[in-house]
Amino acid sequence: MSSWLEKGWRHVWLPYAQMQTAPLPLPVARTGGSGIHLEDGRVLIDGIASWWTACHGYNHPHIAQAVSAQLARVPHVMFGGLAHEQAYRLSTRLAALLPAPLNRVFFTDSGSVAVEVAIKIAVQSRLNRGERGRTKILAFTGGYHGDTFGTMAICDPEEGMHAMFTGLLPEHPVIPLPRDEASTAAFDAFLETNANTLAGIIIEPLVQGAGGMVLHPPQVLRHLRRAADAYGLTLIFDEIFTGFGRTGTMFAFEQAGVAPDIITLSKALTGGTLPLAATIATDALFEAFLSESPATALMHGPTYMANALGCAAANASLDLFEREPRLAQVAAISAQMAHELAPCRALPGVVDVRVLGAIGVVELAEIANPAALRMALVAQGVWIRPFRNILYLTPAFTISPDELSHLCAAIFRVLS
Ligand SMILES: *Cc1c(COP(=O)(O)O)cnc(C)c1O
Repeated sequence: MSSWLEKGWRHVWLPYAQMQTAPLPLPVARTGGSGIHLEDGRVLIDGIASWWTACHGYNHPHIAQAVSAQLARVPHVMFGGLAHEQAYRLSTRLAALLPAPLNRVFFTDSGSVAVEVAIKIAVQSRLNRGERGRTKILAFTGGYHGDTFGTMAICDPEEGMHAMFTGLLPEHPVIPLPRDEASTAAFDAFLETNANTLAGIIIEPLVQGAGGMVLHPPQVLRHLRRAADAYGLTLIFDEIFTGFGRTGTMFAFEQAGVAPDIITLSKALTGGTLPLAATIATDALFEAFLSESPATALMHGPTYMANALGCAAANASLDLFEREPRLAQVAAISAQMAHELAPCRALPGVVDVRVLGAIGVVELAEIANPAALRMALVAQGVWIRPFRNILYLTPAFTISPDELSHLCAAIFRVLS
């Protein structure tokens, strides 16, 4: 065992882990492309791009060069009262990528905080206009929006541990997605009686990621848009997972032909290099904060807001989307996964195989021993992290067809 791992193991606290039984993590010596090089010399093909972030593969030289140049010039300056070019350029570019009214970019340092800011904008914009009592956000079962207390409250009640933290969490309604006739009728009825308590609606468009990569059709988003317009609600699309090509279009909402009032972005924003997030709101919401009084200002400002290194990485990542055929690569990955994961359908215990963009999912009736399954996958030379009852692939868009075949074959072999 590496000595740093052995010493540090007594001091680190891992994410989502029961530390009493957690297996030792694999020590990584370096990364490159879709390869994770372990200290012991083994190389794993990465199937999940480090929690959906590394869309250009690891160590892309263009991002590395941009970040190191920025590090030498201005690593960070406070965003209050001082400005640096990277954040201003990035705001301009993000606004240009989005539909016209989505014009105002608020930078934070994690996805959860970006969602907190979205909630704050939705609620405070009403308070600023003198509208009281509309402080709830309607969210959906199976949804995931982060781990802070504000965002846990709009996650799936079980996953958000609403029962454990009763009294500590804000209370928001969480109901089933309007995806079929019965749930749509229930959704419509809910709004009919409760819309006057709501500030907005939040959804992960097209795919509930952390909830188990559960897909829904674009018409769900169109229904939400119509309902939000009918009742004057702020529609928030949390594209922290789906943004930047993952579902086949630059943003998932493009497939529905409807835009939100607020969008949250993070994960692939910096191409998997630095923590950065953005909450982008329409001009109309922004204008609700304008007045002669400081009392109506948006009171939020993380210390590392709009970190210059993160913004330089994000600008470089956007360069790559412009210069390299990312969406065509996603389409090719999608077709290959659909073809090569299909044989898993015939395996015992497999209940569904589904693909959307560069997301491939094999759903099982249950995964009894995720740790053993993960070990078996590592023995196949791949890094895939089973969770809930699924095995999924969210590879880098730059993965080679051979590497992707290796990932799909590993899943098939391990499940057989
Ligand atoms: C990952 C994720 C978040 C939380 O982002 P963090 O950076 O982990 O705080 C929020 N919403 C969605 C849809 C996510 O996938």
